[in-house]
Amino acid sequence: MDEDPFNPQMLLGEKAEKRLDPIFWQSVPTPANLLFPDTGLEAAMDEGSRSYGAAYQRYPNRVALFIAQNTSCASYCVHCQRAKSLDSTVEVNNIEIEKALFYINYNKNIDEVLITGGDALRISEKRLKYVLEELSKIQHIRVLRIATRVPVVLPFAITDKLLETINKSANKHTEGPDKYVYFMTHINHYKEITQDFVDAIKRIRKHGFTIRNQTVFLNHINDNYRTLTETFRRMFWIGVHPYYLMQCHKEKGIVHFISPIQIGKIYMKHMQGWLSGIVKPDYVANVEGGGGKVLLMPSGHDTLNIEKTIDDKISESYATVYTWDERTMKDYEALGRATRKEYREAVKIMNKFIGRKGVFLPKIILVDEKGNRIETTNRTRLPNLEKLRTAHLLEYKTNYKGMPITNPYKISKKLDKMFYKEKTDK
Ligand code: SF4
Repeated sequence: MDEDPFNPQMLLGEKAEKRLDPIFWQSVPTPANLLFPDTGLEAAMDEGSRSYGAAYQRYPNRVALFIAQNTSCASYCVHCQRAKSLDSTVEVNNIEIEKALFYINYNKNIDEVLITGGDALRISEKRLKYVLEELSKIQHIRVLRIATRVPVVLPFAITDKLLETINKSANKHTEGPDKYVYFMTHINHYKEITQDFVDAIKRIRKHGFTIRNQTVFLNHINDNYRTLTETFRRMFWIGVHPYYLMQCHKEKGIVHFISPIQIGKIYMKHMQGWLSGIVKPDYVANVEGGGGKVLLMPSGHDTLNIEKTIDDKISESYATVYTWDERTMKDYEALGRATRKEYREAVKIMNKFIGRKGVFLPKIILVDEKGNRIETTNRTRLPNLEKLRTAHLLEYKTNYKGMPITNPYKISKKLDKMFYKEKTDK
């Protein structure tokens, strides 16, 4: 392979820095995509067996309506769980859409439709308008959700004209209460919150839509307490509500992006209190075979085994999981697998590719030649997240003019003095 096929002009010092960029990792395939051929036990998502036409139903009151062929996404994320569908056999034709609309019309339990693909905004405006207008005729539909990465990766395409079309079409034939439109987007790192994205969000909000975001928990991209909290709060500052932190789906070629569930749970636990409830998303795994989202941290109940040693807490991330519709899956295993030889070879290749050692840290279950589990790599030590350290990590001023992190009552006398002084000085 060429020393640097992506940027032959890149200076040596620059290389490692650029190769560690979270947007680079999400957007550009690297040799790592070919290095771990065994994903382990998990099968792929099973959408075909729960579909009628372009409608896919996993929950009682809502369907995903695939109006765009999977190849039409605005961003070909390297970690995409639909990457396997990026071929010509997945085109959504008009008949499929007609069948889906027919089904949605007949099933009166459905009050919510997720319009998706690929990317719902990467199809012709004519098709989008048609679908929205047809949905506007169905009285039991109350919510339309548009799944798109366009505001993030192609913000200039979010024009007032497009938003006006969506607004009008979604309620063109509505009788009774309006159908409410949500934009569902996908940001994994605060570096994606650019000024152009902020401007696109402002335009979307101006037209009366709400924007919600799902983030995928990704090793090498956002597997870091500060990165995640920063990403969630910066989204919230501009009117984007985080709603899911998703465990990376196990697919061939992307196992180096998967982080152990235990690590994600620990981050979530330590976000409690430091982020408002409406900023903190639910941490979920989307299990295969149409099992739906499994909450990985459903309550304040401590599932972190605090009596155990730090190393034990970073488990191999396998567990029995319970789906929302009461199915039980034994030995759900979040991480990918590799033999020790494959692992060592992969790290060597990626060190060369990145230009630095010690930053490519796949979290993999090592197995022997017969496939038996040996151990998990990179059992990272847990960060020590006591209060003051967390405050510093999140860049809170811990002693600015003697102000406390919480509870002004403790210094109320001092505050009174300052308050009255300021009033009399005026
Ligand atoms: S935006 Fe979503 S659907 Fe599109 S490539 Fe990325 S993960 Fe896949």
